[in-house]
Amino acid sequence: MAKRLVTGGTGMVGSAIPADLKIGRKDCNLGDWQAVNAFFEKEKPEEVIHTAAKVGGVWANMHQKGDFFRENVLMNTHVIEAARLHGTKRLLAFLSTCVFPDQVSYPLDPQKIHLGPPHRSNDAYAYAKRMVDVQLQAYREQYGLEYISVIPTNIYGPNDLFDLENGHVVPALIHRCFLAREKGEDLSVWGSGKPLREFIFSEDVAQLSDWAVSNYTEAEPLIFSTSEEVSIKEMVEMIVELLNFKGKLIWQSDKPDGQFRKPSDNSKIRSLLPNFQFTPVYEGLKKTISWFEENYPQIRK
Ligand code: GDP
Repeated sequence: MAKRLVTGGTGMVGSAIPADLKIGRKDCNLGDWQAVNAFFEKEKPEEVIHTAAKVGGVWANMHQKGDFFRENVLMNTHVIEAARLHGTKRLLAFLSTCVFPDQVSYPLDPQKIHLGPPHRSNDAYAYAKRMVDVQLQAYREQYGLEYISVIPTNIYGPNDLFDLENGHVVPALIHRCFLAREKGEDLSVWGSGKPLREFIFSEDVAQLSDWAVSNYTEAEPLIFSTSEEVSIKEMVEMIVELLNFKGKLIWQSDKPDGQFRKPSDNSKIRSLLPNFQFTPVYEGLKKTISWFEENYPQIRK
């Protein structure tokens, strides 16, 4: 078995992937080239699954653009270069569906990544992630490395960042709904509830990554998606039911909706793994909420 390193090992996806070595923020600062280079020199991982990233929901992406750009560009550039220098044979890096242009025909497919500017709300993060694709294609051409990238849709699951303001919609709402239930308050939800997202369970992403790092070698990023759209309103209703929340919902129309939808084409992963069963969103949410309640207040927030 190849010696496998997972970066972002304490995060939502990284914690669910089996590995010989997992590193989190405290083990190695991926923004520091000397630290990354020394780490790879010492450990010489043969396989790398790079899940580490500075991530957040629509609010964080709109208000910390400089941090999102800089931290992600540095981490990605360093990890991919250190892997090359120290003989890593296989590397898998994560893109995101926000890399796609805002004005684009649906469904999203990897041919369309660089066809126009991303949505304004998360353009800094999206451009940083696009550079992963650029770097991997460049390394393929110059060094013949078959490093790959994958594009998961909106991931949720245990070990997520449950920040009330800066988190993604699922963890932020689970946390807010839990607090509202405990305090007997109303639950505020952002935007109109109409936007659609394709939610994917973190453990499915982990299993697919585990497979892809050793079996997929193509230059084209591989989309991980159920291709099933769920509206924010439907998602909120499931969270409310699973947390047994009886209070009122307040829709905050002054908060952003973000992109209206971003349906993706999952035909490639379907044809590569025809028997793979995606976790239904209700089941995944149930597991996530049970995990949240069991681990509260020691959650990341
Ligand atoms: P996105 O796919 O990058 O836009 O990621 P988000 O996870 O931030 O999802 C944003 C969608 O959920 C938008 O339509 C928001 O208006 C809606 N939403 C509703 N309540 C919340 C919330 O508390 N936090 C976040 N992040 N989004 C929310």
